[in-house]
Amino acid sequence: MKKTIKDVNVSGKRVIVRCDFNVPLDEKGNITDDSRITASLPTIQYLVDKGAHILLLSHLGRPKGEADMKYSLLPVAQMLSGVFGSDFMFYSSPFVVDDEAKRVAAHLGPGQIMLLENVRFRWEETKNEPSFSRELAGLADIFVNDAFGSAHRAHCSTAGIAEYLPGVSGFLMEKELEFLGNTVENPKRPFLAIMGGAKVGDKIPVIENLLNKVDALIIGGGMAYTFLKAQGYEIGRSLLEEDMTNMALSMLSKAKVRGIRLLLPVDVWAAKEFSNDAEKICCAIDSIPPDYMGMDIGIKTVELFGKEIENAATIVWNGPMGVFEMPEFAKGTKAIAEKLAENEGTTVIGGGDSAAAVRQFGFAGKMTHISTGGGASMEFLEGKVLPGVAALMDR
Ligand code: ADP
Ligand code: MG
Repeated sequence: MKKTIKDVNVSGKRVIVRCDFNVPLDEKGNITDDSRITASLPTIQYLVDKGAHILLLSHLGRPKGEADMKYSLLPVAQMLSGVFGSDFMFYSSPFVVDDEAKRVAAHLGPGQIMLLENVRFRWEETKNEPSFSRELAGLADIFVNDAFGSAHRAHCSTAGIAEYLPGVSGFLMEKELEFLGNTVENPKRPFLAIMGGAKVGDKIPVIENLLNKVDALIIGGGMAYTFLKAQGYEIGRSLLEEDMTNMALSMLSKAKVRGIRLLLPVDVWAAKEFSNDAEKICCAIDSIPPDYMGMDIGIKTVELFGKEIENAATIVWNGPMGVFEMPEFAKGTKAIAEKLAENEGTTVIGGGDSAAAVRQFGFAGKMTHISTGGGASMEFLEGKVLPGVAALMDR
């Protein structure tokens, strides 16, 4: 367990918080989804209530290691200013930290908040250069990491800074570690993992790690076809990663040896083209026509997977069951999401597209936890140690 802000005395201290304000913006620079900012408010509010002197850090987009005002945190600042009023200020410098920033930071009163500019305006940030870590650390007494979505990167503001300051997790980070970590490490059984999405290669490390933990594993979505092909089925023009078929076979036999139930689709919705309006048929996996491609799990498969979901006490889901961006091929993903929503056990969603699908179908409120970090949650499920987490103090 990592220490959290509740384990240290923050009252009257200078506290620097790494947030994840990497919000999506439209062409005019308006925030199109502010959920990441909202998710960071409990930590900031706690520090305000405790009378800490608060500095906020974040990146936004991918400026190329230099100041590019297209990626300024100004839109984020405008929202935070609406929340915290006159206790909030934005210090926008192309250098992020400069002499004036240090002077202003030193004069912050208790409960006052100062947001610095996009940390990726400095080339040192993504190189984890100690010089920039020291500059940031020099502004504060305590480091709080609340940016789970960036915790898989060893950057100055996520990891390097903790070399020079005691580091603890914020509430959002704590929640992610508790739900993702605890769920996977101490699951109530039966423990079921559901994997889908497009790229087998990317997900193999996750499957490999989960095979050490789960009682059952469902593989659906585009990646299922590589597994089906490996077993000798003809999959027509479905998604295939030829170089992964051996890996797929080795996963299948690993599951067998360990007595893990591994479920693959038994039927699929196949289409002649990769299009919502394509002619489609529901066919058993041993009768996919050569000129068709699998776009979604079939009717019997939804039933089969659904039963497994009903019986599980803990479920981790990553990757949609079909091309859910097309309404005609979203039905399998929606049905599975609904089954998870009905499950009374622990349900955790990791992965950007899976989270988007669950939200889109209106089941977000019915899940135990939807991870805010796409890449970070994947690396976590692979069993990797995230640098931004490792840098924090143990309890
Ligand atoms: P996540 O972001 O949740 O980790 P992925 O990025 O791995 O999920 O996969 C999501 C993508 O997989 C979606 O864009 C979806 O259209 C695609 N996909 C799912 N099933 C299929 C399929 N049968 N054929 C092609 N693409 C698919
Ligand atoms: Mg994705």
